[in-house]
Amino acid sequence: MIGSTIDLNFFDRTGDIAAYLLPHSGGAVLVDPGAESTLPALIAALSAYGLTPRDVTHVLLTHIHLDHAGAAGWFAGQGARVYVHPIGAPHMLNPDKLVASAARLYGEWMEKLWGDMKPVPAANLVEVRDDTEIAAGNLRIQALYTPGHAEHHISYVCDDVIYSGDVGGVRFGSNVYVRLPFVPPETHLEKWRTSLERMKGTRCGHIAPTHFGIYDDAEEHLTLASRFIDEVEVWLEQNMPGIADVETLGVCYAEFLRAHGRDAGLDDAAITVYDGGNPISFAASGLFRYWQKVRNET
Ligand SMILES: [Zn+2]
Repeated sequence: MIGSTIDLNFFDRTGDIAAYLLPHSGGAVLVDPGAESTLPALIAALSAYGLTPRDVTHVLLTHIHLDHAGAAGWFAGQGARVYVHPIGAPHMLNPDKLVASAARLYGEWMEKLWGDMKPVPAANLVEVRDDTEIAAGNLRIQALYTPGHAEHHISYVCDDVIYSGDVGGVRFGSNVYVRLPFVPPETHLEKWRTSLERMKGTRCGHIAPTHFGIYDDAEEHLTLASRFIDEVEVWLEQNMPGIADVETLGVCYAEFLRAHGRDAGLDDAAITVYDGGNPISFAASGLFRYWQKVRNET
């Protein structure tokens, strides 16, 4: 069974943030319900499938970033159980810290972009670890612990599809091109590389990154993702000695990405779409922090 892609039409942008719908014999599973701000689009899409929010029995979170998990508490209020890695669990029970740190990043845009984030009651929260099997009606879903983008990141395997959150990278439209979304504060290239290898090991034919869509060339997709890490790592090793601050890194990394995209055959419009999926400033601070904390242990 291949899940259905629901376009959350984030900020009227199509093909940017997805939720995945997996109907089963007793209701439906949602992988990453998205932000509270995009609930109207999600509810409308559910109703097109003949479902109401109360039919959603399981909300599987790849990780707790607001574009993936913001609406989880709302679905818990409708009766769903919310699945998350133990490191992410406290932030779902009490999202105050998560919301405060996002507010520092997004400032006055916070509310407009993401809306509200409701806590998940303890009774509705289920912790998932590596290899946990989740039963949902007739479906069996396997959790795979895949850190690298965030320490608590989980990917979910159901039949021939791996729902890869952000660790499988971002990919848009018909491009055969994968970019990895680096963000502060937990970007870790070695863990990320190991996670990609584990995902490859599932031998799934399909891959469904939250940004955006289900692709039927999972092996090639994951190979491109691994290659992206290798190339960024070489680039960092060559360039970081001459880069003193995160702003300079941002300017240089943007140039690297443009050249990298063009080499792969992307036109400027496509490169801009990828830039939207992972703003350069986030990527630069994620990489800068990784370089300082992990590679140089300062
Ligand atoms: Zn994320």
